[in-house]
Amino acid sequence: MEYIQVSDKLKMSKIALGFWRLKSWKMSKEELLKYLEEAIDLGVTTFDHADIYGHYTCEKKFGEALALKPELRKKMQLVSKVGIKLVSENMPENTYHCYDTSYEHIVKSVEKSLENFNTEYLDLVLIHRPDMYMNADETAKALTDLRKAGKVLEWGVSNFLPSDYNLLQSRLDFKLVTNQIELSPLKTQHFFDGTINLMQEKRMPIMVWSPLAGGEIFISAAENAVELRKVLERLAEKYSCKSDTIVYAWHLSHPANLMPICGSGKIERLEDAVKACDVKLTREEWFEILVNGMGYDIP
Ligand code: NAP
Repeated sequence: MEYIQVSDKLKMSKIALGFWRLKSWKMSKEELLKYLEEAIDLGVTTFDHADIYGHYTCEKKFGEALALKPELRKKMQLVSKVGIKLVSENMPENTYHCYDTSYEHIVKSVEKSLENFNTEYLDLVLIHRPDMYMNADETAKALTDLRKAGKVLEWGVSNFLPSDYNLLQSRLDFKLVTNQIELSPLKTQHFFDGTINLMQEKRMPIMVWSPLAGGEIFISAAENAVELRKVLERLAEKYSCKSDTIVYAWHLSHPANLMPICGSGKIERLEDAVKACDVKLTREEWFEILVNGMGYDIP
């Protein structure tokens, strides 16, 4: 497994594992611990969370598994997110679904994540979505204070378009280290809206969510998905691997330093993702996947 030196404080695995769907995996804490150990053995050490996952339950569940073997903490990078408020019976003080990047909310949410994981620091925290009500000076102060206190080693953003990124970055005297965005052969918009270009310009690695389009690549009956699957199957035969490995290879082969987050609770799927580190697609193959995923040719 390749690692990316994201900053002088933070090294992340090229493939991350995401816990958005943790609740649906229906694992006991012992089973979850086993899965974490297996992931770490594969070299997947970066674990992606958000305060809101599982209606505010996933971080705690992960923390309970980690508590069975606390020495694993130093082998992993814990990533979380802040900035969305969900109306949930698990968070009765939230009265309306909104974004909140206020000083008070960011600090409170990070403190809660630290408590959930039972850890003294988070390796990376992302502002989950651009907040159209953001006061950039206030948000930047929260990020700066938490970083200075050592509670958050590095900060990044998620789903930020270039103008969102530029605004927040303009108020910080340290670098945001990543933008986590949706990208797959079925969701290619960020190649065309300047997001990926800006990240490459800034030499920032890009964390990729739903790299398999949430599984749609393999189940959708849409014509482009059907055609895409034929291409993936042919390339899978050429590279002696499975089709999902080819999708991960499509991400990893791109020059902008993409870090896909696997969203599966099955170790064999995580193994497929890791195998992609050894598959380098040609430019022509990369474009064939892009074009078939989009469903129309490039000009
Ligand atoms: P994904 O890997 O694109 O999708 C995972 C889903 O695809 C799982 O339900 C999985 O089912 C299914 N799948 C995988 N291989 C398949 C196959 N060969 N055939 C059929 N289904 C297959 O990733 P994701 O879970 O959508 O997202 C990954 C992570 O990104 C999340 O866990 C979260 O950490 C992060 N995320 C971030 C944001 C954000 O706004 N920043 C948004 C969404 C997600 P199995 O479980 O059966 O394998």
